[in-house]
Amino acid sequence: MNTLTVRIAAKRYPNGRCAIEELSFTARPGEFVAIVGPSGAGKTTLLKIISALDRDFEGDVQLAPQTRVGFMFQEPRLMPWLTVAQNLALVDPGANGARLAQALERVGLKDCAALFPNQLSGGMQRRVALLRAFMVAPQLLLMDEPFQSLDLPTADQLRAQLRTLWQDSRPTVLFVTHNLHEALSLADRVLFLTPGPSRIALDYAMEAPRPRGLDSPAVQRLAQQLLSEHPDLLRGRLAACTHAMV
Ligand code: ADP
Repeated sequence: MNTLTVRIAAKRYPNGRCAIEELSFTARPGEFVAIVGPSGAGKTTLLKIISALDRDFEGDVQLAPQTRVGFMFQEPRLMPWLTVAQNLALVDPGANGARLAQALERVGLKDCAALFPNQLSGGMQRRVALLRAFMVAPQLLLMDEPFQSLDLPTADQLRAQLRTLWQDSRPTVLFVTHNLHEALSLADRVLFLTPGPSRIALDYAMEAPRPRGLDSPAVQRLAQQLLSEHPDLLRGRLAACTHAMV
């Protein structure tokens, strides 16, 4: 059974703006799906609909029964008045003692349980947010450009930690990004969206073995190949003669 089935006929905002039109896809258990589209394509709108934060649309979204949904946003959104341990305990009251220590160690934050968010670097705050997203043991994890505006080594480290955490518990992931290399590095499948009103321009299966870093030959080659076939892909447009439209 699929974790997620999305069929959106239309999403219109009250001002008449149509953000999504005829966008459908499914995601299987454990599948890592990246969603790539130009700014304003409707990526955040799509995640809000899937997470039921927005129910005002035509169509339907089905989750497998009892699916726990986790969310990671662009900003870490930690509670500044709570320590790292208390921030994590908010989503998982069992996160204490050896279990907490082990979890923190996995993301390189071994001695940080008692620190407050303002005592952590931006990258460390994202690591706490990443860990928090996994602490609810989600079957579906929605990630909205979670590593944006980080320096390259920090973002690389977080991607490696995400890969490890995902491989351990294998939730279905929807990962929004506008970074093609990041999408090809992490995902099993990349959905490229058209400019708004968005629909899927290309549903691309990524078959190269993991781990594949951003700079790995496989990712570089595939990015180059996709962009030479579809020079406007990141603007959501496919080259005219294609049979890859869905
Ligand atoms: P993305 O995440 O791909 O950048 P969004 O989902 O944020 O795109 O937005 C998609 C489109 O919907 C954009 O044209 C945006 O201006 C519009 N939009 C987003 N939120 C609202 C809103 N609350 N009211 C009206 N239009 C909105």
